[in-house]
Amino acid sequence: MAVPHTSAKSCPTCGALADFIEIENQDPPPDGEVAKTFPAAVRRLQPPNPDIERLYRHQCTRLLACPDCDTYYRYDTWTPGGSEDCFNTYVHEAVRRIGALQTLELLRQTLADTKGSAERGFASDQADYEFASKVVGVQLERLKSKKDEILSGLLERLERPRDPGTPQVSALLRQLEANRVRDAEDLALMLVHGEPDEVPVPILRRTVELLADPNPELRAKIRDAAVQALLQVTAGKAREVFRGRRDLARGDATLEEMAGRRGTGRSAAAKEGSGKDPTRRRRRSPGARGGRKS
Ligand SMILES: [Zn+2]
Repeated sequence: MAVPHTSAKSCPTCGALADFIEIENQDPPPDGEVAKTFPAAVRRLQPPNPDIERLYRHQCTRLLACPDCDTYYRYDTWTPGGSEDCFNTYVHEAVRRIGALQTLELLRQTLADTKGSAERGFASDQADYEFASKVVGVQLERLKSKKDEILSGLLERLERPRDPGTPQVSALLRQLEANRVRDAEDLALMLVHGEPDEVPVPILRRTVELLADPNPELRAKIRDAAVQALLQVTAGKAREVFRGRRDLARGDATLEEMAGRRGTGRSAAAKEGSGKDPTRRRRRSPGARGGRKS
């Protein structure tokens, strides 16, 4: 689990809240019983923007944030099925503190779900998807301020030891490995997004360690990102240094060509050396991929 935003614990509004709070109420409440409620601090949490609230209006999940320290919280409500007591309905509600990485993933999942509905072809769903893309885009932009926290969260997952002695079915192992490759891809995208030279050295060092990961697909993601980041940081100089170095890149492309291909597809223009900052063309938003497929 990713480490929550560090300022949460000292926050006067939400600092005293536990990481996870759950309440259960019978619906309707039995005679003479008062429904349980969350601590007052939970009621001070707000949707991070009004559009987000609209996005989650039909869902059992909501994204909330502390207005004072910008820590994110996830609210869920559910009614367990197959209850041992089928004559009564119990409603569960839970609020949990989530880190920036989990927030990013929740937003992406929301977008992916909306996209799935839109692809089934109803016009209203298409409109919902367009709305969701806009709203999630705004929120992802705000999450950029927590980029280092997201990178650390991804690294923690990738560095987590996997116990080879545990008897696992091969399908599960393949799934876990696929998740790691996906995390590595996210790490790579986050790393080259914005200003790679502002990423703290300890994070870069941990990322470089992944170049020794046993999974070749994962190594390739990290290597591509490292090359991409290097090209961005060194801008025009890199072109001079790496020109023609096919030996360092994949067999079928020079590093220079790779950088162009992974960008906006305008590598030819970049190669002309138009004098403009070439890094501008290569920036891509982690949200631009739409939701992740699961
Ligand atoms: Zn707070």
